[in-house]
Amino acid sequence: MPVEPPVVSPATLAEAFDRLADGPVTPIAGGTDLMVAITGELGEPPDRMLDLWLLDELRGIAIEGDAIVLGALTTYTEIRRSALCREHLPALVEAAATIGAAQIQNRGTIGGNAVTASPAGDTLPLLLALDASLVCGSVRGEREVAASAFWPAYRRTALAPDELLMRVRLPLAAGRETRFRKVGTRRAQSISKVVMALSYRDAAKAGWTDARVALGSVAPTPIRASATEAALEGRSPTPETADRAAETLASELQPIDDVRSTAEYRRVVAARVLHRLIREAGGW
Ligand SMILES: Cc1cc2nc3c(=O)[nH]c(=O)nc-3n(C[C@H](O)[C@H](O)[C@H](O)COP(=O)(O)OP(=O)(O)OC[C@H]3O[C@@H](n4cnc5c(N)ncnc54)[C@H](O)[C@@H]3O)c2cc1C
Repeated sequence: MPVEPPVVSPATLAEAFDRLADGPVTPIAGGTDLMVAITGELGEPPDRMLDLWLLDELRGIAIEGDAIVLGALTTYTEIRRSALCREHLPALVEAAATIGAAQIQNRGTIGGNAVTASPAGDTLPLLLALDASLVCGSVRGEREVAASAFWPAYRRTALAPDELLMRVRLPLAAGRETRFRKVGTRRAQSISKVVMALSYRDAAKAGWTDARVALGSVAPTPIRASATEAALEGRSPTPETADRAAETLASELQPIDDVRSTAEYRRVVAARVLHRLIREAGGW
């Protein structure tokens, strides 16, 4: 009987779905997370892998109706070079530029970042703040999962074992602005100690509406800071608003202590990052 190779490269999406349905098999996209685990030092390496790289159905950046849609295999380099992303998602372009170095940006994908589900994954706060939905597919068809429901627990996702992440859908709301900031030990090649996305619609005299504050690296999953969001609702980006929002965030957060940082450092830094983002928005 022929022995199945440890990595199979399906030529079609249908074949990939069939292989996943026959499971167990681990999808591999750019491999920048998975190949680190291949030595077995970080846990059990996968026995069999399903190489997604040839599946063009998982590629592409396009406007579809009132959303911009990124295929799961979209790399950080593609995001950085995309005219559509630069126009509609400048904060995502900014985030992509902070991820790893050129080698990682050429191979690492937005889908891999979402499915790895690291609390330090740099795009995850943006997906939360932009109200993304993640489109999952399998032999049973497709379904959409809101970003707010996609990471239910530490390093877990809402994907079933036979599902692929197909694409990420980001609504384009008129007047929405989004800001991103990552704090690490150094500017390049660092894992975040705090990563934040702030998003709002500026209704001029009526202040900010639909404010969203999302953070990574401060909890077992990426989170939204709902009390802080409430403190920003209807406010203008003044020094008073920034002080109040930063205080609210510092009391709302219950950060983690880990090898990269203490909880107290994360609390103080998160509050200062938010203060600075509001200050930048207010231009003072
Ligand atoms: C040196 C280095 C620096 C890094 N720097 C950063 C950084 O600054 N910020 C950051 O956030 N990350 C960083 N990373 C982590 C990594 O590059 C990213 O998480 C990247 O986006 C992973 O994408 P990938 O395509 O390589 O995923 P893979 O390694 O191919 O896959 C990761 C996981 O996702 C699953 N998967 C991938 N695609 C799909 C899909 N379409 N459907 C279902 N499951 C899927 C795989 O089974 C696996 O479990 C770094 C990694 C390295 C090695």
